[in-house]
Amino acid sequence: MALDLATLPTMDVAGRAPRLREALADAGCDGLLVTNLTNVRYLTGFTGSAALLLVMPDELVFVTDGRYRDQAALELGAGGVPAAIAVGRTSDEQRDHLQRPAKALRTIGLEAEDVTWAQQQRFADDWFPHADLVATGGVVEQLRQVKDAGEVARLEAACGIADDALATVRHRLTEGPTESEFALELEWEMRRAGAEAPSFDTIVASGPNGARPHHRAGTRRIEEGDLVVIDFGALVDGYHSDMTRTVMVGEPSATQARMYEVVHASQAAGVAAVRAGVTVKDVDEACRAVIREAGWEDLFIHGTGHGVGLDIHEAPRVSFSADATLADGHVVTVEPGVYLAEHGGVRIEDTVVVTPEGSRTLTRAPRGRDA
Ligand code: ZN
Ligand code: ZN
Repeated sequence: MALDLATLPTMDVAGRAPRLREALADAGCDGLLVTNLTNVRYLTGFTGSAALLLVMPDELVFVTDGRYRDQAALELGAGGVPAAIAVGRTSDEQRDHLQRPAKALRTIGLEAEDVTWAQQQRFADDWFPHADLVATGGVVEQLRQVKDAGEVARLEAACGIADDALATVRHRLTEGPTESEFALELEWEMRRAGAEAPSFDTIVASGPNGARPHHRAGTRRIEEGDLVVIDFGALVDGYHSDMTRTVMVGEPSATQARMYEVVHASQAAGVAAVRAGVTVKDVDEACRAVIREAGWEDLFIHGTGHGVGLDIHEAPRVSFSADATLADGHVVTVEPGVYLAEHGGVRIEDTVVVTPEGSRTLTRAPRGRDA
């Protein structure tokens, strides 16, 4: 039966802007102009493709264009977000809607990762000439790391849809489909179960293609002796799922069997290391140590994982090169892999919710290698 969004717990959308305000002093600004649409969605529930949100100390000003007048009222209203909604048909009209309230701000933060050079100049010279503009980084993204119960429920629903889709079509790997055909089968099942879309371009990487971690899905026909890396997810109400399973078609060679064993053990060690208060470096090292022990450290050529939510890749990054500590309510992936040109690739990835005691795994498809 297709997923019914109405059965999922609601999200506390209106509670997010007040939490953001508490972070603004540290970011060095009185107000923040949110231009990143994913961040706008997080703070207001708005899902359209054009919006600006000015977060003031005691007011929210939301500006969109004429296409989204009704949708904005509906979506912000649904979340109980107390924003003044203004519609500007032109960029000048949008500027005017923001300029008046912004007069009260001495410093306005911009999202430096999102604003182009041209926009910054326009904001400085034309939109907000009275204010000091401050470059901020990851202020909203920081908040987004901790998911509320409604968000976890959406992620869990998305993961469940992906689990079910793989269970339904997994046996077809032995029937000689091309990578693209198998990807399409997965996507079809996910859509049928209520996913809005695949959460990213489905990866089906068979045989030698598996040795390239982000090969997508091509025309190669899956055959006996292939390891098949399947990395995919479903999108539910804007929330992404992310899971990788590696399936052996036919009997594995000794090397393939060992690759599978090592990655399986590495991934289990990584998940076991996840707990609130643990650094992302420690989780990465838990995975990496097992692969190092096997003599394959050079073949684990990417980070261990990443946060998942409204973006498929978001904070925190789980890597030896990242500085972050996991907290209760973070949702991250653990996805070590080993890639050997002549034998293919093995990667196993789960999405887990961080808890004070450890973690809860949301991606539950069997991890075994059999088709
Ligand atoms: Zn993935
Ligand atoms: Zn991932």
